[in-house]
Amino acid sequence: MRTPIIAGNWKMNKTVDEALDLVRKLKESLKDVKDREIVVCPSFVALYAVAKEIEGSNIKLGAQNCYYEDNGAYTGEVSPVMLKDIGVEYVVIGHSERRSYFAESDDLVNKKAKALLKKGLKPIICVGESLEQREAGETENIVRKQVFRDLDGIEPYQLNDVVIAYEPIWAIGTGKTATSEEANRVISLIRDTIKEMYSEKEASVLRIQYGGSVKPENATELMTQSEIDGALVGGASLDAEAFEAIVKF
Ligand code: PEP
Repeated sequence: MRTPIIAGNWKMNKTVDEALDLVRKLKESLKDVKDREIVVCPSFVALYAVAKEIEGSNIKLGAQNCYYEDNGAYTGEVSPVMLKDIGVEYVVIGHSERRSYFAESDDLVNKKAKALLKKGLKPIICVGESLEQREAGETENIVRKQVFRDLDGIEPYQLNDVVIAYEPIWAIGTGKTATSEEANRVISLIRDTIKEMYSEKEASVLRIQYGGSVKPENATELMTQSEIDGALVGGASLDAEAFEAIVKF
């Protein structure tokens, strides 16, 4: 039985006060939720304040990125050690916005995933095809390649701490959603890829989220598909009521 995980990716939004205001509302409205994991991913500057605010609650803390070294001369970067120190549990890596605006490669995503796991943090690894790739019939090929490269060298026992987010790039922030059947089909293909790389056992426990314009109106339809284990939510996670409705699908 895979526990659904719903994570809110706040991206480059919210000041510290705004972040605290949002998380206080969520703490109250989601306090009785027990059968699914709830994660919020504020910007780096709000992480510490949000960490303090959610102490003792059922909301977990995620970061939106990290570097793979522990410390050193890497101006502007934040390490897994630093994130762990303030109570971060999950870290989103390989988000399509990082891959496209900041030229992050699968090799870099793989290094980050390994560094996070080594420090006891849990990567949420994003994969997904662009519209061009989809229209060229390359979805399967692209997603399989990303999974192979991003998980390269990760040991079977470490997969318990890995979450994959299937996010078709054309569905992110566009209001367009993959149909639930289509999302389920690609996620099933990701599970088959895990089976090929590891075994049936690992494939059956690894959690795979869907991401891309998830909103209260489509959450239940998507989240009740057999292979979909939760959602990575961008835009709708900035609104307390919308995120509450998605979590409570
Ligand atoms: C995301 O940023 O991971 C995302 C899925 O965004 P949105 O929900 O806004 O499409």
